[in-house]
Amino acid sequence: MSAMELCDLSAYELAALIRKREISAVEALESTLERIELVDGRPGSLDAGEITAEDHAKVHAFITRTEETARAQAQAVDKSISEGVIPGPLAGVPYTVKDIFNVRGTRSTAGSRILSNYTAPYTATAVERMEKAGAVMLGKVNLDEFTHGSSSESSAYQPAPRNPWDTSKVPGGSSGGSTAAVAAGMGALSLGTDTGGSIRQPAAFCGVVGLKPTYGRVSRYGLIAFGSSLDCPGPVARNVRDAAMMLSVIAGPDRRDSTAVTIPVPDYTAEIEAGVKGMRIGLSPDFFKIQYFNHESGQMEEEPISDEIKQAVEQAADRLSEMGARVVENVPMPRTKYGIPTYFVISRVEVASNLHRFDGVKYGYRTPVPAEDLDELYRRTRAEGFGAQPKLRILMGMYVSAAQYSEQYYQRALRVRSLIRGDFERIYDPQGEYRLDALLTPATPTPAFGYGDVYGDTVLMQYADQFTVTGNHAGVPGLSLMGGLSKERLPLGIQLLGRDYDEATLLRIGRAFEVATEDAAWRKVRPQVLEGLS
Ligand code: GLN
Repeated sequence: MSAMELCDLSAYELAALIRKREISAVEALESTLERIELVDGRPGSLDAGEITAEDHAKVHAFITRTEETARAQAQAVDKSISEGVIPGPLAGVPYTVKDIFNVRGTRSTAGSRILSNYTAPYTATAVERMEKAGAVMLGKVNLDEFTHGSSSESSAYQPAPRNPWDTSKVPGGSSGGSTAAVAAGMGALSLGTDTGGSIRQPAAFCGVVGLKPTYGRVSRYGLIAFGSSLDCPGPVARNVRDAAMMLSVIAGPDRRDSTAVTIPVPDYTAEIEAGVKGMRIGLSPDFFKIQYFNHESGQMEEEPISDEIKQAVEQAADRLSEMGARVVENVPMPRTKYGIPTYFVISRVEVASNLHRFDGVKYGYRTPVPAEDLDELYRRTRAEGFGAQPKLRILMGMYVSAAQYSEQYYQRALRVRSLIRGDFERIYDPQGEYRLDALLTPATPTPAFGYGDVYGDTVLMQYADQFTVTGNHAGVPGLSLMGGLSKERLPLGIQLLGRDYDEATLLRIGRAFEVATEDAAWRKVRPQVLEGLS
């Protein structure tokens, strides 16, 4: 094998080569399938048995592979190009889909036993748009069950995904299968979702680009719901231009989702090289520490974030300032510390409601034990079908929205959510004191944590999202990208948060940062699972 394979090329390079017929879509696909054979190991399954030493060295991004339909799609692309018809901007580009989207005729599990036998009868809008653009789906990738987590370990389908930079670490979550696949060359793109950080946090852990669009930018139709007021489908890619291309394809109004906004979709690549001259980019001290409520002392406490991540963000600010941006320091974002507690309440209330539909009657898993009555059928099905996280979250959601507690928890959380939104409105206000184009922050407080190290500690796990989750509350877009490598050779993630529907500015800043760091030593290092392949 040569060092650089077709599967390592970016989506825009692949699309251009295929369009010019310098390579075929089938060749791009075969190279990618070969990579999957080499690094992915066995796909996640419900009866994994013992996890062997060999398993520990593999990535395990997939739950379901769809080679056959992928081959047919790739052949169709080649055929139409040979007839002079370009099927779309992503023609022939291999990609994966987080297994939380419905794809017609494909098992769509949400990482849960309760959907283990579910074959979707329809296709999510975002996937349909990828298909129309000519992209070739490799399969469905693993995730935390119902996207409940930050490590992908809670999937019912084991072995769970590993971090391609170090397989003893998690890839992050819940879109961990998506980011691990993209980092390891198993598809140039992946479709993920972000409810509290599930695209941006795993993108940071795996050293790839992850974009949570503005709420409503991308249709949620066909997405298996978690927190309906927070969920955002979005792109995972290896570079900013690819993320921009993919967003241009999947964004836009959809008559099947009334929350999908009708604001026109720009070509996000059009101004991507325009640079950052004159832009105002903020840094906030509230994003340089972890703040949490200590139940024993009754006090808010603070912990520092990783020094290396802090430095990566500061260096990114320096690079952007050298390129002509104005860096505005000490921007107050005082409600950042309430992001996680607020999310704990709102996301649980919404998920308790959304997960009611899984009851063993309409579709999905049903208990094999003959039930006495309907109640027992529900109870057994849900007890057997749901894993620990969804159960915990349903219970908590029912509790905090119950009539006697709702004022104390849910109603209060909704009020805090508006205050969080207010923090963002103040910093972006064109007449205000800060007038920012974007806020530059760490994507996560630490680099990827060890496999098994945080698993089981719901609260600690959740704090991996402290810097991403307020973007979901406020609905604003967030772009996560690699800002360096730690001494342990783990990616360090930085984040740009932006104004409503202004993903274009974030992509432009992200691209400027890529240009500024093109020759950085860390850009040349490849994930560990790819070493030795050359
Ligand atoms: N890690 C967060 C959670 O466990 C966010 C998940 C997500 O964005 N889907 O809820």
